[in-house]
Amino acid sequence: MNHGIPFLSLGPSVAELRPEIDAAVARVLDSGWYLLGKELEAFEGEWAGYCGASHGIGLANGLDALRLALTALDVGPGDEVLVPAHTYIATWLAIDQVGATVVPVECDPVTCNLDPERLQAALTPRTKAILPVHLYGLPAPLGPIIAFARRHGLVVIEDAAQAHGAEYQGRRLGAHSDAVCWSFYPTKNLGALGDAGAVTTDRADLADRLRVLRNYGQRQRYICEEIGINSRMEEIHAAILRVKLRHLDAWNARRQAIADLYDQDLQGLGLGLPARPADARSAHHLYVVRSPRREALRTALAGLGIQAICHYPVPPHLQQAYRGRFHPGSFPIAETLADEVLSLPIGPHLGTEDATRIITAIRGILGG
Ligand SMILES: *Cc1c(COP(=O)(O)O)cnc(C)c1O
Repeated sequence: MNHGIPFLSLGPSVAELRPEIDAAVARVLDSGWYLLGKELEAFEGEWAGYCGASHGIGLANGLDALRLALTALDVGPGDEVLVPAHTYIATWLAIDQVGATVVPVECDPVTCNLDPERLQAALTPRTKAILPVHLYGLPAPLGPIIAFARRHGLVVIEDAAQAHGAEYQGRRLGAHSDAVCWSFYPTKNLGALGDAGAVTTDRADLADRLRVLRNYGQRQRYICEEIGINSRMEEIHAAILRVKLRHLDAWNARRQAIADLYDQDLQGLGLGLPARPADARSAHHLYVVRSPRREALRTALAGLGIQAICHYPVPPHLQQAYRGRFHPGSFPIAETLADEVLSLPIGPHLGTEDATRIITAIRGILGG
């Protein structure tokens, strides 16, 4: 009997770096300083540098990064935000939490990213911002999206929570638009051992306001300039992220090797495989295939001990939280994607033997 293959296990990533992580944690414990200190400052500089951005602002999580970026760009009540109909729910929630209105735009069914051809039809005099998502690690078509935004005086905020290290037109994500939002949730390509997030930007005004907003609206202790929140990345997470950042490129390369293997050996089975646009380099956060027989495939894989997961089974507009605002059938591409997508195991610690076993299993199930 073969061992089971979980969708993702986080243990091996800590095990590989354990001595370095132990040293980083010890450094924080010995410092006696746990918030807004040297580790965060160093990580902010290193992460911004990696992303090719002038500024990095460490925050408590990815959702906060999105909602604080919206606030810092003055997006609020009365404003409409164009957002992909197919994304993780957090992208939408951030817009609602600042009091702005979600305006879903369908994705290109091949790239699973926002389709710039559909922006015009969604534009109204109240449109203030576009919030593209680099879903599954693949950069959204930022060129046309940013050009459209400039033509219509809109700001662009990127949800890059799944795309650490991805490149668009030869440049890493991190400063193509006004603000780029990151999550370091443990399962992301760069993950903390708890919650953490960040914004990167080239705009000094924005960086300054985000630093104030994350600390109760205070620039100076006990002097409150505006209604802020508490969203500080902890020193211990910053220290651990500094260790993991040094391995991000190598770990992304291992993801790429698995994606290459899947790309090559899953052809001819009637599966929709991830798009590889010529001007983008994916971070391969998730390897998502499409099949009208998704549930049958997932069940059969589970029977062989292989765990595949669906990202995401219910589109945002059909979630209970949004009942009464949208109805079934209003975003048919998003609804079809929710029915057909299946994420295969991928990660820096998935062995080639396991990837090969997954491929053999899928070929057997689909009769290839
Ligand atoms: C993970 C994720 C988020 C939220 O990040 P948290 O750190 O969990 O708040 C937002 N958007 C996308 C696309 C994500 O994958």
